Amino acid sequence: MVYGSAMALPTRAHVFHLADLLAGHVRGLRCPSCGARGASEVLKKHLGVASIYRCGACELLFRPTGLQTGRVAAWYYSRLYGNQGIATEPQDDTRETALVRAREAGKDRSTLVATLLPLLPEGARTIGVVGASWGYELLCMEHLGLPLYGIEPGEPRREHGKRRFGLALFADAREARAAGHGGGLVMSSHVLEHIAELEATLDAVQRELTPFMQVHVTPRVDPFTSELAPTIGREHPLGVTEAFWRRWAARHGRAVSFRTHRPEPHMPAGELVTIVYDPTRVAPSEIEAIRFAGQEGEERA
Ligand SMILES: [Zn+2]
Repeated sequence: MVYGSAMALPTRAHVFHLADLLAGHVRGLRCPSCGARGASEVLKKHLGVASIYRCGACELLFRPTGLQTGRVAAWYYSRLYGNQGIATEPQDDTRETALVRAREAGKDRSTLVATLLPLLPEGARTIGVVGASWGYELLCMEHLGLPLYGIEPGEPRREHGKRRFGLALFADAREARAAGHGGGLVMSSHVLEHIAELEATLDAVQRELTPFMQVHVTPRVDPFTSELAPTIGREHPLGVTEAFWRRWAARHGRAVSFRTHRPEPHMPAGELVTIVYDPTRVAPSEIEAIRFAGQEGEERA
């Protein structure tokens, strides 16, 4: 007996995605992050069901989403999100093979992080990873010899990293703070575009961890063109714009500096590297002087 291709069957994640899109329309296309109404459609996708909008208030790009909040989002990331690839799947690996695999998959951000560390006071050189999964980025940074911790809302991945590799992983910023972590450098790589309630998440990181500096890597979405349509979709409801960062940083008395990095051939506009810093503690000229391996063009602030 011949069955249809398994690829054609909707997975639970696809069903959730459709429900999420429809719930987003029912909510009146509010911005999932700041809750503002009155977003403007910037690109029609799937007959408008999955169109991409720009929030007039916080300037994030987003597709409709109505379910990815609070506990539902935590459940989604624990149970449905991502069924393949090193980024999400707990591997039955040893520490060594997990490290090799992470590096081969381009998950090693230790060079980027090491470039920024000299700007931190010597006693404040710790590294926190937001969206740490089971800790592959932490493994890649262990050779830096600094205290490391990660925040991962997905319980199976978090528990896997704690159990198998003995990593310091926490469900949220508050829990990390309660365990004595904070200050230092907080980073994320291809995580923020997945978090519908981004502003609240970044606010919690700022409030609970009070990082000396932050660096976040997201798919570049400025200027947004139809070529970039695939960067906002099922697994990543947001497009994180430079304008969003400027507003968020200003609200917290921070400054931002941007770089473009192009490691991924499938990412047409490359990656946006955003450095968030306190201009009263680090001179903007010091930030501007930073050059990363793989960085493209001139920095903009
Ligand atoms: Zn908004």
